[in-house]
Amino acid sequence: MKKFFIFLSICSLTLAQQKTIEERVDSVLALMTPIEKIGQLNQYSGGFDTGTKTADLKTGKNQLIREGKIGSLLNVIGANATRKIQKVAVEESRLKIPIIFGLDVIHGFKTTFPIPLAEASSWDPELAEKTARYAAMEASAAGIHWTFAPMVDIARDPRWGRIAEGSGEDPYLGSLFAAARVKGFQGNFSSNKNIAACVKHFAAYGAAEGGRDYNTVDISERTLREIYLKPFKAAVDAGAVTLMCSFNEIAGVPSSANKFLLTKILRDEWKFDGFVVSDWNSIGELIPHGIAKDLMEAAELGINAGVDMDMQANAYITSLDELVKEGKVSQSRIDESVKRILKLKFRLGLFDNPYKYCDSLREKKTIQSREMLDVALEAARNSIVLLKNEKNLLPLKKDLKRIAVIGPLADSKRDPLGPWNQQRQPDLVVTVVEGIKKKLGNSEIIYAEGCKITDTSKSSFPEAIEAAKNSDAVVLCLGESLFMSGEAHSSASLNLPGVQEYLAKEIVRTGKPVVAVLMNGRPLTINWLSQNVDAIVEAWFLGTESGDAIADVLFGDFNPCGKLPVTFPRSTGQIPLYYNHKNTGRPYSHQNRFSSNYQDLDNSPLYPFGFGLGYTTFSYSNLQLINDRLQKGEPLKVSIDLKNTGERPGVEIVQLYIRGITGSVTRPVKELKDFAKVSLLPGESKKVEFEVDTEKLKFYDIDMNYRLEPGEFKVLIGTNSENLLESPFSVVE
Ligand code: BGC
Repeated sequence: MKKFFIFLSICSLTLAQQKTIEERVDSVLALMTPIEKIGQLNQYSGGFDTGTKTADLKTGKNQLIREGKIGSLLNVIGANATRKIQKVAVEESRLKIPIIFGLDVIHGFKTTFPIPLAEASSWDPELAEKTARYAAMEASAAGIHWTFAPMVDIARDPRWGRIAEGSGEDPYLGSLFAAARVKGFQGNFSSNKNIAACVKHFAAYGAAEGGRDYNTVDISERTLREIYLKPFKAAVDAGAVTLMCSFNEIAGVPSSANKFLLTKILRDEWKFDGFVVSDWNSIGELIPHGIAKDLMEAAELGINAGVDMDMQANAYITSLDELVKEGKVSQSRIDESVKRILKLKFRLGLFDNPYKYCDSLREKKTIQSREMLDVALEAARNSIVLLKNEKNLLPLKKDLKRIAVIGPLADSKRDPLGPWNQQRQPDLVVTVVEGIKKKLGNSEIIYAEGCKITDTSKSSFPEAIEAAKNSDAVVLCLGESLFMSGEAHSSASLNLPGVQEYLAKEIVRTGKPVVAVLMNGRPLTINWLSQNVDAIVEAWFLGTESGDAIADVLFGDFNPCGKLPVTFPRSTGQIPLYYNHKNTGRPYSHQNRFSSNYQDLDNSPLYPFGFGLGYTTFSYSNLQLINDRLQKGEPLKVSIDLKNTGERPGVEIVQLYIRGITGSVTRPVKELKDFAKVSLLPGESKKVEFEVDTEKLKFYDIDMNYRLEPGEFKVLIGTNSENLLESPFSVVE
């Protein structure tokens, strides 16, 4: 008899396993009370650490979990901390539905990778996929199931601090990075090393007026779709399972109440079948936005627009039951959200093993392993952009007797971590001083801070000047602190903060060769530096392995190959300044005062999108089109000859842009459509071939139909968005 029962249970177990996720979701849903359903849509922050704040959960929030009133927590970190809370959910609540733990793992967890803007400078989506995969490995080992990343907001305004978190200004490059990071985080959910991605912030958050965070956005539907939505679509197509709506409004409609975005575009057009979480209290913010009179109305607007989970506003859990009773929200709308959330919990395997991610041994082994640090180093090296190198000052010789390493960022262990690192581990960071010391055993390294990042005093200048005078070369590390970019860190000025430029002037006055190394989360206005120092290395915030990567570049152990994913303006007055702008009816001409220009400044950027040097040079020639009259569906086949004309092996990122010359609507002066990373030995040449699918030539026509319009085009290929060879072609009916 006993055997028979065991057999029966095995059969039912096997049957359970054979059920599809949808069937399993339905069977859980059928058991749920209305309040338990609403509970799944409720997310709270559990504190930023595993210490005192988590203890709160023993009382208030733990009780809510027991009652089935919380579906997800964010900011609870650690295998043990998450295990404790999960235990309450799966052992003490009626239905034993596991909690999903979320966290902002934006550029690494404990091992910190370069900020996303830096990583985009690598123009290497596979690298981003890799760092996302490794970040997921570390975070998942600390109990995290879900990251609020990738941040895929296009940013055309460097005053906006969150430009640091995204991939820059270009929708094509941004889309490749968006998709790569989704794949990296999620894998195929086959193991407990994969975490769910959350693509954010939907949508157009980066278009905030004046670059001021959380500010109003008012853009056309065409710009929304062609520029800002592109990376979101790519992420959804890559399988992203969740998405976060943004704080901002677009043309009068805040995203958390935007049916057009969350239902029409996301569900009806893109067929997204994951769930949407609000941003932090963004449902509550519908009140100050001025479209909801109270939290109840805010909840109604949020859920009816398509926000499935309420992060931290306390709106859904307090209002939805009543709203259903009043007939303002349908039960089926709530069931739909619950199903989406349960589905992810099933996909992550949490119903089968809720403690799958709570393994403290794995946590110890995985975090900051050598392998992680190697990936961090690879990413950091590839994220560096060489902006200037007069007289081939770089790479520096390794046998220099004395090197002065000067500046507020030269020995900072904290700042290279960048803005999003909840798990900051400054001790692990290799500073530039340390990186250079490790590399050069026999040289004397003289360090002088010179000033603090935001200092107004020049009192430490003399020591720095002395250090410079006593050296054979100066590495001058300037920039921003980690807290100057990121959320709520918009800046009206893009100049180097404090007295840093004065410090640079004093150091250059010593007459020593000076290499400026910049660490920053956004493009800065560095006109003086670009005219007066011989070499400029844009290092952004490179994370844990900063100093090693920078030293590798400075001394030629790594030949820099990064290219800017964003334009560097000459002045904040030029902003927004981006390469894929429109021509206007009066394009700039220096012979025509009545053309589109400034009377007091050139239109051009200081460094254009796609710009970056290396330790060798490349020549471009012989742009050839196989066919210059394309039929619909026929790809544009084009090639160019690339030669390494320098003395070192090098990697060049060959960029292909398209310009639509005529159309039913105006088109940008150029749009990146493809690129290739090519390695060449000195003297070596290669024919670089591209096939551009006509799909890439489509745009929203005058009637907002996304289609291929017959007309005249140009293809442009070269080393950056301004230095290009071009050839015309046409698309025929
Ligand atoms: C940010 C999001 C973040 C969330 C949770 C918000 O303030 O805008 O990007 O994911 O907080 O930390």
